[in-house]
Amino acid sequence: MSATDVMTPSKLKPMPLSQPVELSPKPSLIGLTREEMGAVLKEKGVADKQIKMRVSQLWNWIYVRGVSDFDAMVNVSKDMREMLKTHFTIARPEIVEEQVSNDGTRKWLLRFPPRGAGRPVEIEAVYIPEEGRGTLCISSQVGCSLTCSFCHTGTQRLVRNLTAEEILSQLLLARDRLGDFPDREAPQGTIMPAEGRKVSNIVMMGMGEPLYNFDSVKTALLIASDGDGLSLSKRRITLSTSGVVPEIYRTGEEIGVMLAISLHAVRDDLRDMLVPINKKYPLKELMDACRAYPGLSNARRITFEYVMLKGVNDSLEDAKGLIQLLKGVPAKINLIPFNPWPGTNYQCSDWEHIEKFADFINSAGYASPIRTPRGRDILAACGQLKSESERMRKTERLAFEAMMIANHGED
Ligand code: SAH
Ligand code: SF4
Repeated sequence: MSATDVMTPSKLKPMPLSQPVELSPKPSLIGLTREEMGAVLKEKGVADKQIKMRVSQLWNWIYVRGVSDFDAMVNVSKDMREMLKTHFTIARPEIVEEQVSNDGTRKWLLRFPPRGAGRPVEIEAVYIPEEGRGTLCISSQVGCSLTCSFCHTGTQRLVRNLTAEEILSQLLLARDRLGDFPDREAPQGTIMPAEGRKVSNIVMMGMGEPLYNFDSVKTALLIASDGDGLSLSKRRITLSTSGVVPEIYRTGEEIGVMLAISLHAVRDDLRDMLVPINKKYPLKELMDACRAYPGLSNARRITFEYVMLKGVNDSLEDAKGLIQLLKGVPAKINLIPFNPWPGTNYQCSDWEHIEKFADFINSAGYASPIRTPRGRDILAACGQLKSESERMRKTERLAFEAMMIANHGED
């Protein structure tokens, strides 16, 4: 994409949005485990001997067919549908805004109803189509309690954890909008084959630290990978963490998805500054947890994310240290050009320098793709979600885009 291709927000292709949903006090059936779903049905009077069958039916309608309305469940009796409508919902969150970048990246600003006495919250999800696959970047929290110094989310306080329903809703909604569920007419039980799907992969790389919201993230990801439902292979789900060591062990044992570590520095003194959770779980403990991650092999590697900060962590000494640190770990290195935000003191390393850094790593035998900035015109970088659009007025936005183009040059 050339700089001149970048579209201003006003030129973005408009998309018809879903109707604002009434803030419903009804509990959602989305995000419940099968056991939980069975329990709430039982509470509403469904007979014991019917529960398993009803849960299977609902599971299929919600996760295989992607319906968001009980009336679409044609093989469920009218009485049962009325009961479900009275007590529960399977509605999607409200789409506040949907943007489509000229490189095909899509970004949704979603609003979730309040929980308890709280207020409605908004988060963003981003879809990035690539050759042969499409990746959805989803959020686990609104804000973040950690304070990584180069991350804009880190400057915002944690508002709240997302529920399992809200985490999964991002996937359901993206698949709705991309036409990624089977047609209404498709035979019962039809599952879109993984190869043909628009959303073939998900990454937990949006807002928040997923391992500080472990239970909801676990429930959501186990439902996303359930073979009788959304059926997304665990190898196509990547969870990114700043390094919450005890929960990395739990992730390996209890969830089993692919792991990405926000490394960003190879010395404790520097990592303490960039990723302050390092003070609690220093590099040695982090790397021990990585080495112990179950199922690692050359075909199943941990991704190490490394943001390129000019003059901070981008020397060839750092590159050497990186190779040293990762010795013996099946690893992929993902170099991320720093995505600047208003008020930050960091700058992105120069493009030629990033390439030199990458060459050094490649020559040591590691693939080190540089993450190409995508969806720049809609501010869609992972790790930067929501924060900009929330705070920037249009003039600031344009200045920001210009800064990003200057930093990244031509793709
Ligand atoms: N909290 C989790 C996941 C969300 S952040 C984590 O830290 O891993 C997703 C990725 O974007 C992380 O690697 C994060 O370090 C990176 N990131 C955050 N801010 C960034 C920025 N301004 N530029 C480039 N990458 C950034
Ligand atoms: Fe939170 Fe991740 Fe940002 Fe750190 S990089 S502040 S953990 S979202």
